[in-house]
Amino acid sequence: MLHQQTNILVIGAGAAGLMAARDLARAGKSVTIIEARNRLGGRIHTFTSSEFSAPVELGAEFMHGDVPLTKELLREASITYQDPGGKNYEVGQGHAQETGDYMEDLPLLLDTLYTLSDDMPLAAFLTQYFPEDRYQLLRDQATRFAEGYDAADSQRASVFALRDEWSGGGAEDSPRPLGGYGGLLQLLAQQLQAAGGTIELGTVVQAVHWQPGHVEVRCDNDRYYQAQQVVLTVPLGVLQATEEQPGYVAFVPELSEKRTAAAAMGFGAIIKVLFEFDEAFWEHSAAELAQPLSDLGFLFSDAPIPTWWAQLPDPRPLLTGWLGGPTALHLRDTPDEVIIEQALESLAYIFTTTPAYLRAKLRGQRVANWAADPFALGAYTYSTVDTATARLVLLQPIEQTLFFAGEAVYAGPALGTVEAALQSGKDVAASIINQQLTPSSSEPQALR
Ligand SMILES: Cc1cc2nc3c(=O)[nH]c(=O)nc-3n(C[C@H](O)[C@H](O)[C@H](O)COP(=O)(O)OP(=O)(O)OC[C@H]3O[C@@H](n4cnc5c(N)ncnc54)[C@H](O)[C@@H]3O)c2cc1C
Repeated sequence: MLHQQTNILVIGAGAAGLMAARDLARAGKSVTIIEARNRLGGRIHTFTSSEFSAPVELGAEFMHGDVPLTKELLREASITYQDPGGKNYEVGQGHAQETGDYMEDLPLLLDTLYTLSDDMPLAAFLTQYFPEDRYQLLRDQATRFAEGYDAADSQRASVFALRDEWSGGGAEDSPRPLGGYGGLLQLLAQQLQAAGGTIELGTVVQAVHWQPGHVEVRCDNDRYYQAQQVVLTVPLGVLQATEEQPGYVAFVPELSEKRTAAAAMGFGAIIKVLFEFDEAFWEHSAAELAQPLSDLGFLFSDAPIPTWWAQLPDPRPLLTGWLGGPTALHLRDTPDEVIIEQALESLAYIFTTTPAYLRAKLRGQRVANWAADPFALGAYTYSTVDTATARLVLLQPIEQTLFFAGEAVYAGPALGTVEAALQSGKDVAASIINQQLTPSSSEPQALR
């Protein structure tokens, strides 16, 4: 058995883990990150392959909303960012038209949401307040947005959380870091190592044995680590996993309260499909293409893989397909080749052409099925009616020994984002550092 000892172990080298470890190491702690994958980044995966003319994002791609910490790190890493360009299209029954609004009846929806005194799941809200046939489009668009954008199950998604998101502009104003998010993680890893921290890749944590002030983390390949404190940044999907699922991490003694809290929160599925073609065929008419879409930014459709986007203002001929929520979860065990076929059929329907035409133009292809990934078991967190209470339970450290961080436990507005993960990592490091500046309640009290 290979055995190592350190002050603090951080489990997971995603945005939260790297951020927490960097700040802890800079504060003089001896820190080791243990990461299951053979790469940094977790749900940030800037992927390079000869099939693609430039790196592609298999996970996070955009900067949603106000993201001060992300921007600060991008600046430090000398990475600039750029708003997506192009027009948005809606394709239904084979017909495409330009669209401005992602939800036509949003003002009506928001007016009703602001009259509600109690939170409820989206599906129940729509059935109760908009049951009539004339609201079919409103119901479809609201459900599609919650499932597609938030990866949420509408039977569980909190309408209060959706109301706050929608009144804040939803998916608008989302630039991309140029060259991808990968450089930001490299920066954090370099800063961590410069401060004396270490990272162990390819090391899967299987069990966390703990008692106050002492933790033993057992990993695959007979490795184990001892530490005084552990910061767990594994995704919510891993905390929600049952014993028979791959990716399950055991706690000894078990943390039933934390597991119950994790189960009360929402963690949705996303499948991303990336296709690079020999040219941006969608921009011009060809005999095989009945429906070109010039200047394509995003498109929303009723195809099996419904949402697609190009890379404008970057002209590279890359289309990204996106499927979220329960439909993506349903395809969790579907082989990538089958998903690729469905994606080509979806594009053929959208552009009114044939899969064979598209296949002949295809140069690079990749599926990222996040619910099938044992070290993610889903894509990102969405708010259920119980999330706010459950998050407080998860956030609470155990005996100043086990700490939880990651996008799921971030209490600010940007749940489910890179910013949320970074900020949560920063917060957990600050609470560990500050806790050691003040006398701990477990220390003997002075006699009066
Ligand atoms: C498809 C997709 C698209 C997204 N798009 C965006 C976007 O456009 N903008 C945005 O801001 N956010 C986006 N997100 C969300 C964003 O990627 C995440 O919120 C953020 O990266 C989460 O960081 P984290 O550190 O909390 O978790 P993670 O990045 O998941 O890090 C946790 C780490 O723990 C490791 N781990 C798991 N189990 C074990 C184990 N047993 N032993 C050791 N290590 C383990 C994992 O491998 C992982 O590296 C997207 C996510 C996905 C999946």
